[in-house]
Amino acid sequence: MVKFKRILLKLSGESLMGSQSYGIDPNRLADYAQQIKEVHDMGVQVGIVIGGGNIFRGLSGSQKGFDRVKGDQMGMCATVINSLALSSALGAIGVKNKVMTAIRMEPIGEYYNKWKAIEAMENGLVCIFSCGTGSPYFTTDTGSSLRGIEIEADVMLKGTRVDGVYTADPEKDPTATKFDDITFDEVYNRHLKVMDLTATAMCKENNLPVYVFNMDVVGNLKKVLEGEPIGTLVHN
Ligand code: UDP
Repeated sequence: MVKFKRILLKLSGESLMGSQSYGIDPNRLADYAQQIKEVHDMGVQVGIVIGGGNIFRGLSGSQKGFDRVKGDQMGMCATVINSLALSSALGAIGVKNKVMTAIRMEPIGEYYNKWKAIEAMENGLVCIFSCGTGSPYFTTDTGSSLRGIEIEADVMLKGTRVDGVYTADPEKDPTATKFDDITFDEVYNRHLKVMDLTATAMCKENNLPVYVFNMDVVGNLKKVLEGEPIGTLVHN
């Protein structure tokens, strides 16, 4: 029995760097593709949003003098590069998939459409949603909450390099303790950085639970789908 029938998996661009300081680590990419294959083989319908932080972020660009909107558009293009890389890695191990884009750019990807995405997932294709929301000033966390809600996912799985939500940043504070579950309100009141506020508000208002877990440990995605309590559930 799988815990969730349809998932929206959010992968950060930064994680794709693996041990590199920029770009895409082919080993990390292959690990991710393999993990996705495992849950796809279990019959789970999979939608994916990938960030672009390994290549470009609009906000950091604007701090260096780039126009913010153009910088965000560059960031969205970065998500397309990552999406194509994941699509290729999935294809190489026999997982049928398609890239959809929030901004028209055929033939790189199909222009996003909720019903076409659901139809494709029901037909066994993994759907990779690129360009985030398609608008500047948003993040791919918000893009994930939006797509997760639209495709009626049972949960958003936020794959990170930490194994859940902590009372403080565990990479900085060794006394930080992990939550097994926590409400959206508590995340907000404690100023915990699970996702940005827009993404958190979207999930809360539309009742999309978020499961935070460490995707960098091979096999963890499958464990989440099997119901192993390895991360933190954020809920209403
Ligand atoms: N971005 C955007 N609109 C969106 C999603 C992303 O403008 O809906 C841009 C923004 O500049 C962002 C960049 O794309 O910094 C990369 O996305 P994000 O920072 O979310 O990537 P991650 O941190 O997950 O790697």
